Amino acid sequence: MDLAALLPALIPSWSSVVLLGTFFAYLAAAGSILPGKVVPGAALPDGSRLRYRCNGLVSLLLLVALLGLGAWMDFLRPTIIAERGLELLSTTFIFSTLVTLVLYAAGCNSGSNSSSLKPHLAGNLIQDLWFGIQLNPQFIGIDLKFFFVRAGMMGWLLINLSVLARSVPDGNLSLSMVLYQLFCVLYILDYFVHEEYMTSTWDIIAERLGFMLVFGDLVWIPFTFSIQGWWLSRNNVELTTIAAIANCFVFLIGYMVFRGANKQKHVFKRNPKALIWGHPPKVVGGKLLASGYWGIARHCNYLGDLLLALSFSLPCGLRSPVPYFYPIYLLILLIWRERRDEARCAEKYREIWAEYRRLVPWRIFPYIY
Ligand code: NDP
Repeated sequence: MDLAALLPALIPSWSSVVLLGTFFAYLAAAGSILPGKVVPGAALPDGSRLRYRCNGLVSLLLLVALLGLGAWMDFLRPTIIAERGLELLSTTFIFSTLVTLVLYAAGCNSGSNSSSLKPHLAGNLIQDLWFGIQLNPQFIGIDLKFFFVRAGMMGWLLINLSVLARSVPDGNLSLSMVLYQLFCVLYILDYFVHEEYMTSTWDIIAERLGFMLVFGDLVWIPFTFSIQGWWLSRNNVELTTIAAIANCFVFLIGYMVFRGANKQKHVFKRNPKALIWGHPPKVVGGKLLASGYWGIARHCNYLGDLLLALSFSLPCGLRSPVPYFYPIYLLILLIWRERRDEARCAEKYREIWAEYRRLVPWRIFPYIY
């Protein structure tokens, strides 16, 4: 697409505002009304725990069913997101910026002393806007951090489905497109099946809500993780059977490591005596798990996620670096995040962490890093 066509396509229209507004309104209503397991979050520094209603899966399935029904009744075109991709991108970007400003203003005016709402002002405006100043801001009873990541993951799936719908009449439904779509659907559904695990992740327990997370959840996840789908809808890739099978293996191994590691940590936090791979867990200082995946590398879950990211791009072949944007970005992000988490854990656990480091010397990639 040339620049002359790109700029007008980026200008938000009222349709994209309505689409986005309807999506958020649906999520807010579904999240508040639909049934779901209510799980307590990690204990905050003041001892309190937030409660999260994990009804993302039922919200997503109902949303897809409603959209399917709407398309079947000719009420909406399934290709609409793919057609308006760029203006939805700019509308979401503007929305994220406005949300960041509102969060900052609301945070500055918060008189609360609770861990979740107490404002933490660094004094540097850029830094405060970027990282945010409150840990768990809420709006009409909705935990915004949990809400935005849910919106981002669902948005990613909706973009993919719309690109798929546009590819079918174009005759572009290649094996590559089928594999990419299948892997992403499984990954996103798995995320919502295990949504409660999200409550013990770094983003929820340690990161404040500012532009970095709002933009990351609402813009970055849906619009950049779907680049492979856009790319495949414009490029033809002949995937050999061997390449397709190898690609499925990368996905399956990545999934096993990613889900296995996150599950082991989650189960361990709830019950430190639970068996790991059929054996009593090896525990450091009564607090850190040092067996199973957590005995192979200190962030084996990142390794699994990286393999999964690679498996989403491999269907595109090796002709262009563009579809590899996601795994490359994730590699940089997770190395940076691992460093920050390492510093946090070293400070929190002190000699226990040093002992864990001695037992498990690898950060992410065993025998490499
Ligand atoms: P983790 O789920 O690894 O959480 C890190 C925390 O776990 C630490 O701060 C510590 O917290 C605890 N911990 C660390 N080591 C141990 C141990 N050995 N035993 C017990 N507890 C331990 O990190 P993230 O939240 O960053 O990632 C969660 C998942 O999300 C990962 O799979 C990651 O790949 C994925 N992710 C994906 C992204 C994407 O863009 N696709 C972006 C970011 C993450 P505590 O103080 O509670 O003990």
